[in-house]
Amino acid sequence: MSRAPLEIPRGALGLCAEIEALLVELVDLDAPSPLAAGFRSRWVRILELFDRYAGVVVGASDYRTRCARGCSACCRHWIDDVCSFEAELLAAHLRERWPAEVPGWLARFLEAREEFARLADVAGSREVACQAFVRLGRACPLLDAQGACRVYALRPLVCRGFLSFSEPSLCDPAHPGHAGARTYLLDLEGPAHELLDELDLAHERFGSARGLAELLPRALAEPLRG
Ligand code: SF4
Ligand code: SF4
Repeated sequence: MSRAPLEIPRGALGLCAEIEALLVELVDLDAPSPLAAGFRSRWVRILELFDRYAGVVVGASDYRTRCARGCSACCRHWIDDVCSFEAELLAAHLRERWPAEVPGWLARFLEAREEFARLADVAGSREVACQAFVRLGRACPLLDAQGACRVYALRPLVCRGFLSFSEPSLCDPAHPGHAGARTYLLDLEGPAHELLDELDLAHERFGSARGLAELLPRALAEPLRG
């Protein structure tokens, strides 16, 4: 896929500053776990602000996105660059809301993890394994039968930041025009980006693992902590 250029407009700076202030609070909170009081509510607020930030950034550009609920080819990617604390928050949410479904999700995430490890072994590179993984068409276990994310409000930042400015059909790797799809991975900029890294490091619990399918099974398999 080609990467479309995208400027961060001045209008997005206020939202960035709000995100930054909340990240400072989260770092200063020095919580023993992301499940501790005050962590989750601030993180959910950051996610809401990030969605507004994405809307302002795209709105100020010459591009328009057709990303919408139920449009889900991107949920067949290997989801990487997830923070360990995001996986812990998701695991707690899944256990609270749908405890009976947790074993099934766990099994499917483990299958995806093994498949990815096999591809990475053969390819000798994580990047090539990511490209091969999407061609398997293996949907994220958190995608429902209608193509909607079961954890939409809490979905990882990296899921929110992945945008396409092309026809949604081009996101399907089987589409002949897939290589020409214009995509963009929107991230936080400047101090907010650095604060997120700091928070991620402070709550790192599963070593260097960054894939959703690497982190979530471990978070689901461990006892809840507050
Ligand atoms: S990135 Fe592609 S598949 Fe994902 S929501 Fe946007 S248009 Fe749909
Ligand atoms: S967590 Fe949700 S948005 Fe992210 S890949 Fe899975 S189903 Fe898609």
